This record gives sequence, C-alpha cells and structure tokens, in this order.
Amino acid sequence: METSSDQIRIRVQGLMRARMASLALLADRWVERTPPDFSQKRFLEFAEDFYTHHRGFSGINWIDPQGIVRWVYPGESNEHFIGNSVSEHLNSWTQDTSQKTGTSLKYLATPCEDLVQGGLGFHTFWPLVYNGRVQGYLNGVFQVKQVMDICLAENILTEFWISIYEADRLIYTNEEQGHSNAEKHNLHVLQEIRFPGKTWKLKLFPNAALYPPKVIRNPGLLAFGMFISAMLSLILYFLIHRMQMYRKARDYAFHEVGERKLAQEALKKNEKKLEALLKELADKNAELETFVFSVSHDLKTPIVTIEGFMGALREDFGNLIPEDCERYLNYIGDATRKMDTLINDLLELSRIGRLTVKKTEFPFAELMEEVIAGLKPRIKAKNVQVIVSKGLPLVYGEKKRLIQVMENLLSNAIKYIGKENPSPRIEVGVREQDDQKVIFVKDNGIGIEEIYFEKIFQVFQRLPSAKRIEEGTGIGLAIVKRIIEYHGGRVWVESEPGEGATFFFTLKNKEN
Ligand code: ADP
Repeated sequence: METSSDQIRIRVQGLMRARMASLALLADRWVERTPPDFSQKRFLEFAEDFYTHHRGFSGINWIDPQGIVRWVYPGESNEHFIGNSVSEHLNSWTQDTSQKTGTSLKYLATPCEDLVQGGLGFHTFWPLVYNGRVQGYLNGVFQVKQVMDICLAENILTEFWISIYEADRLIYTNEEQGHSNAEKHNLHVLQEIRFPGKTWKLKLFPNAALYPPKVIRNPGLLAFGMFISAMLSLILYFLIHRMQMYRKARDYAFHEVGERKLAQEALKKNEKKLEALLKELADKNAELETFVFSVSHDLKTPIVTIEGFMGALREDFGNLIPEDCERYLNYIGDATRKMDTLINDLLELSRIGRLTVKKTEFPFAELMEEVIAGLKPRIKAKNVQVIVSKGLPLVYGEKKRLIQVMENLLSNAIKYIGKENPSPRIEVGVREQDDQKVIFVKDNGIGIEEIYFEKIFQVFQRLPSAKRIEEGTGIGLAIVKRIIEYHGGRVWVESEPGEGATFFFTLKNKEN
C-alpha cells in the first residue's frame, strides 16, 4: 500500500510539475519575440500545439489584462467560458504581496472549484509581461478527475479507494457510495502531493472487495474458528514443549551413553589391572607356600637330630643322669615336640590347594563318624556330650581335607569347653540360609569376644584366655579357613564370652 501511494504521489506531482513548467515555457517564449505577437492566431497555434502534445489540460485560454476570458482552446468545451471574468482571482493575487516576490510572482493557482467546463478543477494564470506591462494572462485549466485518470493505473483504481483533499475539501475520489470504510480499521495511508501553488492530501485504503471488511457476519462461526485456532495453538505449544523435552532427554541419553562408555572403558582397564594383580598375587602366594614348605622341611632336620641325640643320651648315660638333668631333658623334649607340631601344621597349611586329590560327593554324616571316632579319647576325657544332627547333607569336596576341618573345629570345641563346665556339650548340625546349606559346630564353652571374630582365623593368633587353658599353635583355624575357601565356601563365628561359640561354614555345590 505504501508503494502504491508513493506511485500515485510521484505520478500526480510529476504530471502537474511538468504542465506548470510547460505553461511557464509557453509564457516565456511568447514574450521573447521582438516585437511580441499577442494575436489570437498566435495564441491558437501555441495552445493547439500544447494541448495535443501535453495531456492533462482541460483548456488553455487567453485572458486580457482586465481579467476577461477572450480566446479559448479547445473551442468545443470552453466556448461558454469566453467573456467570463476571472478578475476576482487576479485581484486577490495581486493584493497578496508574498506572491509578488521571487519566482511565484509569475504564477497563480486558484483553489479547486466547480469549473464552467464541468467537474471540479482549478485555474493557473501566467502573466505575459512585456515592456514592464501585463499584456494578458495565459490560463491553464485542469480538471482534477482528468488529471487523476491520466495518472492512476488501472490496477490501483481497482485495488484501492483513493481520496484527494485540498485543505479539508474532497476534490477527488474513486470510492463507491456505501462501501465499508476501511479507514476505520486504520488501514489507510496518507501522502502529500505537492506542486507549484498546491498541496493536496492523498488518502489511500484497500478496496473492500479485496480486503474483506471486519464485519462479523456469523458470530458463531467466528467463535468456532477462534476456538479451533486456540486449540491448535495449544496443541502446537504442547508439541513444541514435548519436542523440547524429547530433545533434552535425547541429549541426556547421549551424555549418559558417553559417560557409560567411558566408565566401561575404565572398568575394562581396571579389570585388566585387577587380573594382572591377582595373577601376581597368586604367583607370590605360590612362591611363599613353596618357601614355607621348604623352610618347614629344613627345620624338621635339626628337630630330628635333637630328638635322636636325646634318645642316645638316655640310652648311653641313662644311669648317670641326675634327677635335675632328667627334668631339663624333659623340658627340651616338650619344646622339641611343640616345635615339631608347629612345623607339621605349617607344612599342612602350605600343602592345602597345592597337593590336591579329586573332589567327590559323600554324606557328611559318614565323615562325622570318622572324626568322632578319632577324637573319642579326648571327648571321653572331658566328658563332653557330642550331638550330631540326623539331617546332615551330601557334600562335595576332598574328604581328607574336610575331615581336617571338622577335627580342628571339634578339637577346639573340646579344648575351649571350659574346665568348670557342668554339662559340656557340642552339637554338629545344618541349617538353611539364603538357599544354602550351612554346617555348624556349636559348643557351650568359654566363648570368644566379638573383636577377635576375624583375628582367630589368622596364623599364630591365639586368645589370651586360650593361652591359659591349653596348648596350641594358633594355626588350626587358619587351616580351616584355607580348606573351606579352597572348596569355594565361607567360614565365620558367632559367640559371646561365657556363652559358648558356634562356627559356621558353607561349601560349594557340585558343578554340573
Ligand atoms: P589353637 O591352636 O590355639 O587352638 P586355632 O587357630 O585353632 O589355634 O584357634 C585360634 C584361637 O581361637 C584359639 O587360640 C582360641 O583362643 C580361639 N578358639 C578357637 N576355637 C574356639 C572355641 N571353640 N571356643 C573358644 N575359643 C576358641
């Protein structure tokens, strides 16, 4: 719309400025000739030439110095103008002092009015001055509609309503009666058209047919439309929101995947490190076991020597040995035996897992019979009641090693049953825990403080109470732990001092 209004302004301004310039030229040329010819013939020649070559004039007339119209061109539409007086215009013009100075002195344009030739238009007057005297006036008549018809393109006329105002007076419009006034909807554009002596206001607004007016013909339909559009906006909003959520979730997932990948890579690296460490540990353990084994063996030789020479001493000098000396020899014998047991136990510990026999499946009750048979003298000596549960399970493992386990646990139970115990009692049984069979050895002996629950399974760890009671090497439970772990199981103790102790262990089931 802005462009169209500009186009109209440029065209109207251009046409009118060109016509004004033509008239000024005509007036100049007329008086240029010496002596000038102010004859009707000359006027008609000029007028005809201008009228035919410069469209837009409704008429070009000659007015005498008194302001009376004398000659007209073209004759047909202007004849009844002959004899009319325009002195009223000319008087106001000559009285207006501002018009007498500068270039405007030569030119006058009347306000728009009803023309004698018909329609609304205006007159322009150009004085022909020769020898300091006005010889007459050249009068160009313009009909606004004719000017607009020349200037307005067909499409502009159909697409827009155009109104032209001079001051507040409407001097041109293509607007039809009764059409909707788009101006009300602030759709119009205002422009100023300026050419010598005139300032017109151009108002342009869209043709109602092309831009349907905002007349609500069907309020129900409009409400429905608005409702649908609101719903669509809402759906769109939710879709966008969802999309943003999905995008965020996707970014987060990408991030997570990336993090996980990194974590997995780190884990793999750590696993490899761990594997290497475990292998190193296994190698070191094997090395240590071999060392312990060889050291134990080497230690056995001097023990055997000591024992051998003690025997020889008794054999060769038995009668000569005084009583005190015999006592000392007994001390040496006890210490040597203790040393021998210790070395035997250490040798045993180092053998576990190194010297293996094939694992078999057998009833645990069968094993118990053997163990109890071996411990019978000690059980009797301490008058201990041993109860073996009937429901002992089938187990899978190295029978000899598992016998070692039960021997150690039962002999400990007997050892630490307590000297003053009125009814010494040991119970061997099984219970179900986390879908696993747990075998236990329970006694009502001196018990163990909780702080030692872990420690007692380490080599050479003996409790102060145990040291007072009986002799031992502190290796028995270490052997038990070693054998159970070698069988893929776990061993632990539950106890309270003075309330007895219960040792539990699990074994791995036979692999299929
Ligand atoms: P030890 O040769 O001293 O018996 P063990 O390794 O078999 O060595 O036992 C370690 C320590 O655990 C024992 O010295 C004793 O203090 C304690 N202990 C083991 N079994 C029992 C038990 N049934 N009751 C109380 N204390 C026990």
